[in-house]
Amino acid sequence: MNILVINCGSSSLKYQLIDSDSEAVLAKGLCERIGIDKSVITHTPAGKDKVVLETPMPNHTVAVKLVIDALTNKEHGVIDSLDAIHAVGHRVVHGGEKFATSVIIDDTVMKAIEECNDLAPLHNPANLIGINSCKEIMPNVPMVAVFDTAFHQTMPEKAYLYGLPYEYYEKYKVRRYGFHGTSHDYVSAHAAEIMGKTRDALKIIVCHLGNGGSISAVDHGKCVDTSMGLTPLEGIIMGTRSGDIDPAICDFICRKENLTSVEMNNILNKKSGVLGLSKVSSDFRDIEAAANQGNQLAKAALEAFYYKVAKYIGAYVAAMNGVDAIAFTAGVGENNISGRAKIAEYLGYLGTQIDPEKNNVRGEDQVISTPDSKVTLLCVPTNEELAIARQTLALVK
Ligand code: ADP
Repeated sequence: MNILVINCGSSSLKYQLIDSDSEAVLAKGLCERIGIDKSVITHTPAGKDKVVLETPMPNHTVAVKLVIDALTNKEHGVIDSLDAIHAVGHRVVHGGEKFATSVIIDDTVMKAIEECNDLAPLHNPANLIGINSCKEIMPNVPMVAVFDTAFHQTMPEKAYLYGLPYEYYEKYKVRRYGFHGTSHDYVSAHAAEIMGKTRDALKIIVCHLGNGGSISAVDHGKCVDTSMGLTPLEGIIMGTRSGDIDPAICDFICRKENLTSVEMNNILNKKSGVLGLSKVSSDFRDIEAAANQGNQLAKAALEAFYYKVAKYIGAYVAAMNGVDAIAFTAGVGENNISGRAKIAEYLGYLGTQIDPEKNNVRGEDQVISTPDSKVTLLCVPTNEELAIARQTLALVK
């Protein structure tokens, strides 16, 4: 079965066509600048050079049409016709409290996703546009919604409630939801597999450290806590997001700098994190390079980042009353060898020992702790598209 995985943003659309039997990626690509000038589609068929085509994409339906054209193109296509797409899996950012699992998309589901728009005003409307565009072009192909929040719906009340007047939860559903759920689910399950164990028998902490980052506590297969909250702004220090701060800082800075809450929100999301701290970049590679050249702010930004990750790990050891495995994933988690070592330095109290040779790995499944380490440390590349394809297959076959 060929499954098209779609991740639709407000002006972009990422796709992968995955053969569910072999789990091979047949082709992948990206449409950018949808709805603005100079729209471009970059299409990469497996084993071949990428094709870049600048062509108008006034809306997402045109973008989806171009994706289908690319996939069925005589030269750089990988399938003969639209009929060879058997299902579509859509990444949907916010499922609120309505969705604890992936679902087949029908009108009721569309309405329920729309009702979550308030919770993710930048993402959910774009996800819905992507679904509608695909439905227009492939009306008879089954479609599945896979939610970023779903895996975290098992969190107990004590983990998801904020210390706010309860009426805000009652009226507006203000609570912790968590994001990157597809990754936390996939990586925790795969970490257990690598260890030759079942996830149901383990306490696992997943550190998804990318440009956006979140940490989760997965206790016997169920998420019991996660660092992102109502929105992806909460938690660890990220590329451009502040993560946890004293909420009173917002009012303080707004008064000092004469900012509106919207402007403040923008600063917290786009200008903070390691970018704001280092004044260098949001990209960890740039910051590492600057730190290695003696840039003190870059060093401080990295130290603050590692420290925050270690603190969350400590908190989740407490939440689960122990930990068997800690898995590092996403851009930084999979590739930043010295970063993993720095974080592991904080974990000696757990009887954790990183193996420097095994840790010398990027983007590969690998146990990176010594055999006698009390907690297994792992590098586990995430694969959200494959996880979406698997969940789509499970619902449509
Ligand atoms: P997102 O999906 O949230 O955009 P990614 O998971 O792709 O983010 O992670 C991007 C981050 O990973 C960037 O900050 C980048 O610097 C970092 N990264 C990628 N490769 C390396 C590397 N070799 N060493 C250190 N950091 C890396």
